[in-house]
Amino acid sequence: MGNIKDQLAKIVSSEFVSDHAEEQYLYARDPGTMPPAKPDYVVMPGTTEEVAAVVKLANQNRIPVVPMGAGLVLSGLTRALKGGIILDMKRMNRILKVNEICRYVLVEAGTSQGTLQAYLKKHHPALKHSIPDAPPGATIGGNVLIHGSGHLSHMAGYHSDMLNGLEVVLPNGDITRIGSCALSSDWFARAPLPDLAGLFIGWAGTTGIVTRLAIKLYPRYKLNDVLVFVTDQPDTVPDILYRLSGVQVAEDITAWMMPKPAWAAGFQHINILFSANTKEELIWKRNLIRASVKPYIDRREAGFMAVPPPMKPRFLKAPSPDLARFADLKKGGGFEYVGGIMPPDRFPEAYRTGVEIAEKYQAAYSLGARMIGVNHSMMFFYAYAFNRADSADVERAQLALEETNQKTIEMGGIPWKAEEPAQKQIIQKMDPNMFSLMNRIRGLLDPNGIMNPGNWEVN
Ligand SMILES: Cc1cc2nc3c(=O)[nH]c(=O)nc-3n(C[C@H](O)[C@H](O)[C@H](O)COP(=O)(O)OP(=O)(O)OC[C@H]3O[C@@H](n4cnc5c(N)ncnc54)[C@H](O)[C@@H]3O)c2cc1C
Repeated sequence: MGNIKDQLAKIVSSEFVSDHAEEQYLYARDPGTMPPAKPDYVVMPGTTEEVAAVVKLANQNRIPVVPMGAGLVLSGLTRALKGGIILDMKRMNRILKVNEICRYVLVEAGTSQGTLQAYLKKHHPALKHSIPDAPPGATIGGNVLIHGSGHLSHMAGYHSDMLNGLEVVLPNGDITRIGSCALSSDWFARAPLPDLAGLFIGWAGTTGIVTRLAIKLYPRYKLNDVLVFVTDQPDTVPDILYRLSGVQVAEDITAWMMPKPAWAAGFQHINILFSANTKEELIWKRNLIRASVKPYIDRREAGFMAVPPPMKPRFLKAPSPDLARFADLKKGGGFEYVGGIMPPDRFPEAYRTGVEIAEKYQAAYSLGARMIGVNHSMMFFYAYAFNRADSADVERAQLALEETNQKTIEMGGIPWKAEEPAQKQIIQKMDPNMFSLMNRIRGLLDPNGIMNPGNWEVN
């Protein structure tokens, strides 16, 4: 690969290409439990044309290309499993257009959640996007492409559901637009054309590199509030969630269960976030939410936790600091979670499984479930913190994650943003014709197999 570095430097300039040991070390790993895998080069393109030129060069020389946003997926999907180029998209961070009336924003894929959040607050205070609880450096592209979820997901679904259109560099270097932007100057919808966005969502960067995307924006109301409903009977949670979601006034509904602090142990807490433009509207929404679960309160089986006003900002903060705080519990920088995308009626089983596995492996754990859509599905998370410097601790977390992935599949769920070994667990259970179709699509798009190889593969 002697002169490859020079050729890459001709495309993006020498300051944005590296084959130094320091970069190779850092880009070989993420905060999760997957073992390091070293890239040969790290490249930071600045434009779509540069991405296309890098991909063409890689294709000619059969060099693997791994697209990367912030590398915060935690499940090792941005490691270079077969070496090659890590294409770090963070320089492509421009906010290109906001259409207030049609409520969408067009960004480059490497734009961070924090940048977009701050930009909208300053320039379009009546609008917001759905923010995941990931660190603010996480990119819009990386999050949408893994079917992420966030603070408006109860109202509007997965972040991939909020996608209006894409610009993507195909594995042969062709630049393609998908959605209304394929023929209009506006990126307002994916309908009514054939929905080719699905060729790039959920594929772990194995089908192309997204360079631009438009996502939906939503009204930002002046007043925000939270209610926290608490029970100690997990079997009642599916019905409680069904009732809470049925009134359709919450923006976000997230359950959380932790063994510490002691007052939280054994309880299922459900945060219900809602907002409004006037006090009257806020009270009306609060009353609707309260009324939906009144039978549980009347039977004294559950109730609302008092949240003193000074504590409310902590619950309302987006991103929520709580999971990030838990992630650092063991110090030493190790954190990973299984997100089981599941039907909400599996909540009791999912909860008991999480507690059992954590106790079996003596893992520090935090469990939770974000409702996606109007109780259409949930992302049940089993988060484990560990100390990277303690190999026994890392191994315990790894075993706990592997067993959690397996149990998630057995319960009828699907591990989200699955690690490479968990992808194999999924493939084993998947309709073989679906996997065969995936392979045929990949073969057509990427006959030389250069895109993030090692992912969504059997061997
Ligand atoms: C404390 C904590 C809380 C979290 N909470 C949430 C949450 O509430 N909701 C949530 O959804 N996630 C959450 N996450 C998980 C994760 O951090 C986010 O999903 C994050 O947005 C992923 O974005 P990224 O830029 O880091 O993606 P990366 O890790 O860089 O990439 C993710 C995948 O997308 C591919 N990819 C990236 N960019 C491109 C591109 N331009 N073109 C093609 N493929 C690409 C990569 O190859 C990889 O397969 C959390 C993580 C932490 C640490």
